[in-house]
Amino acid sequence: MKPSGLPSSSNWDDIAPMSQRPEILFPLFSSLTGIDGIGPRTAEAFLKMAVEKPIDLAFTPPHNVIDRRPVRSIQDVVAPCVVTVEITVGLHSPNAIKGKPYRVTVEDAQTSFQLVFFHARADWLRKQLPTGQKRIISGKLEVFDGIAQMVHPDYIEPLGQTQDIPEFEPVYPLTTGVSQKLMQKATGSVLAKIPTLPEWIDPSLKAKHNWPDWDTAVREMHAPKGLDDVAQNAPARSRLAYDEFFVHQLTLAIARADMRQQKGAPTIGNGALKNKVLAQLPYKPTHAQLRSSQEIIDDMASPLRMNRLLQGDVGSGKTLVAFLALLTAVEAGGQGVMMAPTEILARQHLYGLQPLASEAGVVLEILTGRDKGSERRAKLAALKRGDIQILVGTHAVFQKDVEFCDLRLAIVDEQHRFGVRQRMELGAKGACVDVLVMTATPIPRSLELAHYGDMDVSILDEKPPGRQEIETVLLPNTRYDQVVERLKSAIAQGRQAYWVCPLVDESEVLDFTAAQERFRTLRIALGEAAVGLVHGQMPSADKDAAMADFSAGKTQVLVATTVIEVGVDVPNASIIVIEQAEHFGLAQLHQLRGRVGRGDIKSTCLLMYAPPLGKTAERRLTVMRETNDGFRIAEEDLQLRGAGDVLGTAQSGLPRFRIGDLESQKDLMKTAQDDARLLLSHDEALQSPRGQAARTALFLHEQEKSILLLSIG
Ligand code: ADP
Ligand code: MG
Repeated sequence: MKPSGLPSSSNWDDIAPMSQRPEILFPLFSSLTGIDGIGPRTAEAFLKMAVEKPIDLAFTPPHNVIDRRPVRSIQDVVAPCVVTVEITVGLHSPNAIKGKPYRVTVEDAQTSFQLVFFHARADWLRKQLPTGQKRIISGKLEVFDGIAQMVHPDYIEPLGQTQDIPEFEPVYPLTTGVSQKLMQKATGSVLAKIPTLPEWIDPSLKAKHNWPDWDTAVREMHAPKGLDDVAQNAPARSRLAYDEFFVHQLTLAIARADMRQQKGAPTIGNGALKNKVLAQLPYKPTHAQLRSSQEIIDDMASPLRMNRLLQGDVGSGKTLVAFLALLTAVEAGGQGVMMAPTEILARQHLYGLQPLASEAGVVLEILTGRDKGSERRAKLAALKRGDIQILVGTHAVFQKDVEFCDLRLAIVDEQHRFGVRQRMELGAKGACVDVLVMTATPIPRSLELAHYGDMDVSILDEKPPGRQEIETVLLPNTRYDQVVERLKSAIAQGRQAYWVCPLVDESEVLDFTAAQERFRTLRIALGEAAVGLVHGQMPSADKDAAMADFSAGKTQVLVATTVIEVGVDVPNASIIVIEQAEHFGLAQLHQLRGRVGRGDIKSTCLLMYAPPLGKTAERRLTVMRETNDGFRIAEEDLQLRGAGDVLGTAQSGLPRFRIGDLESQKDLMKTAQDDARLLLSHDEALQSPRGQAARTALFLHEQEKSILLLSIG
């Protein structure tokens, strides 16, 4: 074993001891069909609720609880509700007319009511409910036509045989083929097998929250004694939620430690290029830009590998910070690369940065999928020789045959869905490459820790001076003509505008048809020369030309699909019209709107929609009108869509938390991050008793796979 004992890509032997599940957990990971009452068919039904193994049952919390404690009379409760009461059986009224239910009148201590049975078997009912005898019944009481009745009681038991009726009954989320009773029974069998496990939670934290041991917590979670116990903050639940967060953060912390421990040559610049460029800038960097840039430069100078997130809302000036970091790599005698999500954005970086680079005597080049043949070969050779110092481009910059001479820094721009796994793959590109991921903030704070918990974070919390709030207006599409009139007078005053066409069924082809049609009509209305068009299906050279014309002010209106969604920067553009805005998600609308408000002109965003608006769409558009704050928008987005959708769970590597709730328990996530990092800093091989226990927790939550995944990269 290497000293840290953590798995690394170079040595598979290290992984083996980590990847063997402890025997004590075997019963929880055996087949479901081993449980009484579960056959292959039922097991299949359980699959639909993502229950594959006994442990999945243990981790499926009830969402409600039924109180079946007996009352004296149904008059003590307010229907509809579940009630348990002792009754004397009265007269049976069989279903004389076909299709009518079978009724049995019963009497409790104070009043009488009816039991109702559809498709009843009379002989069975007479045996269960003999007239004149006492029984305990339990079921849902309702009032129908002014009469209290209970349809198909859940329990009918003779007095003294009430042990089958639980005082409190957990209620689970279900799927077809799985009934409450089956779920309760199956869960009960699993609970009987729950082992006692060594404790992985820090004792003082556990005491502070009054958390039970793991096995007690699982049993308590499944045995709620009232609504308080099914609440998210009930001690048993909150402990199990914490376990999920802790395991997740531990996985991230292991990945982080594994990455940082790969030492490389520290990248130390002398500031010469950086200062040259700063002196050339037409503006002064903001404090936030200077601070973030210093954080990054310090991190690069340390012998540990950088794994950092630069977060800043649309228009906060991330590009400059990135460029200063790239220059530092060059000052240190190395190279830097920046990857953008689209070709348009990669080119914009080229046009925007190349003049600054050449002033400073730095060679900056672009590489995208468009580079082919001999030209591409020449670029690759120059890159390998070290003649190109800074490379910008699309994901093409990370293709297999792209080799650097001495790559020090890799930057990923505007990659909101760039997950833990992709970051690790990127890190594998160079032996000691520092990694910087840049993102605007479509990620709510509550998700940030879960998603970026392995990274250090720099934040641009300040916009360049002189920026004005963007005014956002909602308009029904019936006002199209007025919008065009308004646009006409705006362009007469020298303003520029984007016109974004609807996203139709996520289909590129349909998108572009809509955009072409709008291009045609706007050219008629505003003049041929004034309007440009850009969409994903266009040949790249035409795309460049359209962007360049707009950027240079040759066209005043740019009709576009969402290809302009991210990163595009034309500061003179101060109007954006978004057609059928109700089809866009919040994060997308915020990104699109971020295309304006980038200069000191007051900007406007017109959101056009087809009435009537659905509830969610209305809420989205209202949020857009009310705020420009990326964080608030991200939080609303989370509320409207849920975490999986916001991040694209599959790509993001964010686990599905079965018990924990990111929104209401974000403080726990923070605690989990601190605790996981602390544990690892004392015990990087997880060898201490608590470290060993933490390994068990990783297995319990099946994170051993993601450890392998992360470390292989
Ligand atoms: P984003 O964070 O969205 O990537 P950009 O880096 O594209 O933002 O910057 C947005 C615009 O603001 C660009 O036109 C850029 O030149 C300009 N800019 C950046 N920093 C400053 C500053 N400190 N003062 C004035 N303008 C700035
Ligand atoms: Mg940007």
